[in-house]
Amino acid sequence: MPTPPLDAVVVGSGPNGLAAAIELARRGLAVKVLEARATVGGGVRSAELTLPGFVHDVCSAIHPLAAGSPCFREWPLADHGLEWVHPGAPLAHPLDGGRAVILERSLAATAAGLGGDGRAWRRLVGPLAERWEALAAEVLRPVLRLPRHPLTLARFGLPALLPAATLARRAFAGDGARALLAGIAAHGMQPLDRMATSAVALVLAAAGHAGGWPLPRGGSQGLADALASYLRSLGGEIETGRPVRDLAALPRSRAVVCDLAPRPFLALAGDRLPEAYRRRLEGFRYGPAAFKLDLALDGPIPWAAEDCARAGTVHLGGGLEEIAAGESAVARGEVSESPFVLLAQQSLFDDGRAPGGRHTVWAYCHVPNGSTADVTDAIERQIERFAPGFRDRILARRATSPAAFEEYNPNYVGGDINGGAQDLYQILARPIALPVPYRTPAEGLYLCSASTPPGGGVHGMCGFHAARAVIADLGV
Ligand SMILES: Cc1cc2nc3c(=O)[nH]c(=O)nc-3n(C[C@H](O)[C@H](O)[C@H](O)COP(=O)(O)OP(=O)(O)OC[C@H]3O[C@@H](n4cnc5c(N)ncnc54)[C@H](O)[C@@H]3O)c2cc1C
Repeated sequence: MPTPPLDAVVVGSGPNGLAAAIELARRGLAVKVLEARATVGGGVRSAELTLPGFVHDVCSAIHPLAAGSPCFREWPLADHGLEWVHPGAPLAHPLDGGRAVILERSLAATAAGLGGDGRAWRRLVGPLAERWEALAAEVLRPVLRLPRHPLTLARFGLPALLPAATLARRAFAGDGARALLAGIAAHGMQPLDRMATSAVALVLAAAGHAGGWPLPRGGSQGLADALASYLRSLGGEIETGRPVRDLAALPRSRAVVCDLAPRPFLALAGDRLPEAYRRRLEGFRYGPAAFKLDLALDGPIPWAAEDCARAGTVHLGGGLEEIAAGESAVARGEVSESPFVLLAQQSLFDDGRAPGGRHTVWAYCHVPNGSTADVTDAIERQIERFAPGFRDRILARRATSPAAFEEYNPNYVGGDINGGAQDLYQILARPIALPVPYRTPAEGLYLCSASTPPGGGVHGMCGFHAARAVIADLGV
């Protein structure tokens, strides 16, 4: 019997590809996902990268946006094996001299730890955390739309438009609160004196109070596997080990949805696109890259500030001025000697990640796009600065350079892990300014990756909104 035609083929099984497929399947459409690699997940995979028994997150590790995502929250992912592990505190930010500031789940406890700046933290972040669902619905979608929650958006938008360095200096008097905000803002991989760099900080800080910064038990792969299992339960199919090199060779379907950044998308579909659109996609800009270290340790990191051991994520880079200088250097194309390091210590809270008493560490810093510098030593020095004796605990290490990231996944162009620079222009116009940015001019061809709104991070909302565009076009 001939196979019935599909409604949609999704190219790539990152969180956005899987979310797009799920939303289509939920509407009763016949969907198939084709994934180049042997396992599903894109930037949400885990593997033994160092020694046997040590489970490392290959890309993403900490999931404030996934835990707070409007679509993931609605779907029954727990029934498909997803279990969130909440560390004692979402984030610690050590400072020289053995002190640390902590982003706690509780707004009041965070404020208490910030001393004189506690009230300002409450005023800035509290209202956003309290209205997280409205905020997430507004910011995790294309920005160029009429707001559904104008008051929440206005409360967010005014400070969010400021450069993070300006907001930190204006809102806070002490170095602790300033450093805390700067470190969270640095997730955006932009110089902190640029417009709208406060937006990332406010969203992630509010998410920390509202839903935490959790990690999936057993590794990030657990989230990808839960999405894949839910998709299959809806009748969706997934084929792994199936790189798509030619759109003409795809199974017949009414729509093709690509979980791809513009560059790999152009390589695959460029000949189907009108020249004007193609040129605009060619002009899409990529941001700084990540250089990552995965470590196996024979014990926990010996933090000078003991509170750091309560946190799943630790930001290393000293105070606001030092972090801002490092991020500006990266934007100028320089490799910082004292980089801002984002570190996760999952095995402290999830004991299946490493054999008895041993631990995993996930750490990366920002380097210029395409950089070939080996910054292993700079990252380790930064950890040692706040945890003397840490280096003596290293059993094995694995470094991943920007080029290795791009080889692993062509969406990481030049090692950019966000699917394209997230400056103000490319937040508004992603990948280009269009009312429905997911739809391409080629009939039936769509984009759903982190290079579409709302951008990088694991939340699935690019895929969800792309699926809604497909559903509207198919008249379902
Ligand atoms: C080091 C690192 C750390 C990160 N940390 C975090 C974090 O802690 N929290 C967070 O929220 N986000 C984090 N991110 C970002 C996050 O992983 C990405 O924003 C997210 O994975 C993007 O999802 P996506 O679905 O758009 O694409 P991707 O995850 O890139 O998935 C695309 C998929 O498509 C497949 N593919 C590509 N080309 C083809 C083809 N031709 N045929 C078939 N399949 C193809 C790829 O193999 C891949 O599986 C991190 C990323 C990296 C690299």
